[in-house]
Amino acid sequence: MAAPRVLFVCHTGSISGAELVLLDIVEPFAGQSAFLFEDGPLAAALAGRGLKVAVSRWGQGLAQVRRDSSVLKVIPLIGRLLAIVVEVIRAARRHDVVYANSQKAFVLSAIAAKIARRPLIWHLHDIISGAHFGAMQRRVQVTLANLCASRAVVPSQACADAFIAEGGKPDLIAVVPNGLDIAREAKSPAEVRQELKLPAGPLVGVFSRLAAWKGQHVVLQALAQAPGVSCIIAGDALFGEQAYATRLHQMIDDLGLGDRVHFLGQRSDVPRLMSAVDAVIHPSIDPEPFGRTLVEAMLAGVPVIATDAGAASDILEAGRAGTLVPPGDAGALAAAIRTVMSHPPELAAQLTYADARARAHYGKAQMLQTISAIIDTTAGDVS
Ligand code: UDP
Repeated sequence: MAAPRVLFVCHTGSISGAELVLLDIVEPFAGQSAFLFEDGPLAAALAGRGLKVAVSRWGQGLAQVRRDSSVLKVIPLIGRLLAIVVEVIRAARRHDVVYANSQKAFVLSAIAAKIARRPLIWHLHDIISGAHFGAMQRRVQVTLANLCASRAVVPSQACADAFIAEGGKPDLIAVVPNGLDIAREAKSPAEVRQELKLPAGPLVGVFSRLAAWKGQHVVLQALAQAPGVSCIIAGDALFGEQAYATRLHQMIDDLGLGDRVHFLGQRSDVPRLMSAVDAVIHPSIDPEPFGRTLVEAMLAGVPVIATDAGAASDILEAGRAGTLVPPGDAGALAAAIRTVMSHPPELAAQLTYADARARAHYGKAQMLQTISAIIDTTAGDVS
């Protein structure tokens, strides 16, 4: 069978974790197509991977509509959404299989793929639960998945369990952990800190987009209880969370942390930054669907302190490959930071174990092979 013609569909032009995964997935698909609802850095990055990229005439700014918005907020957008469906139908007819990379991309692609009579794969990067989606949205997503999707690819058992709990068909699910392939930084932490002008002394880092559920505010509360520890915060408010970013700055003033907390904005050198800190903190207060940051820290050889929710416990093997603390508990986080900063003797073995675990379970080659096989099989089932 000739290689299937694949249409990758994405709702956003920004690059957060799900889009970084997509950029890896498309590597073997140079010459294939991507359709984005809005323009942005993702369009250029996909074109750089050799994809033919088309951008909707109607979708600019839709990614900023929060996914927990009420139905009433969506009603005025219906005309634009239908126009995008028509665009996707036209594009889908020129392809053998549609690959939707997000929840918003999926909902519109599901309708379009059904009308265009093309098989649809949904890469579901989220935990479908009340924490992020309204009841109606959850019902729409799961009903469309059951009716229209050939497969639902999820990065963790936590995502699979939530999908099934909401009524999703278990046999649609393929659990494919995100895979990363990152070389260890050759320079010493001290050299990297000097080059990047990072502070000296005990230093932790947070590397997530700014969003309330990502929990950066809990790190600030913990730092107030961990004197002498500085923190770099990389990441931006990518999806309409500017009010949260403002709140973080206000908290820094209120807690007197101005000289210890450094916002770096959205960065493209996260592995390098990680190699320079004494610990990576992953503070999400809601269950994390995966958490690439965790695996990046494991591969960087840096201790990781993560909240025990969602996939983190699996990735860190219930605490064997990193430290787990309860979500939203600043006191527990501060205690964990102090412990890691005291360099306990068991840390070296934990880091070696974490590195081996990341390589064995979360490699990029493994992910690419599995996803390519799913795409081939899905296209083959209907050709
Ligand atoms: N990241 C980045 N620049 C930043 C902050 C984060 O490139 O300034 C990357 C980070 O290295 C990770 C991804 O964004 O690869 C976040 O993925 P994760 O699964 O942790 O969270 P998501 O954004 O998917 O919720």
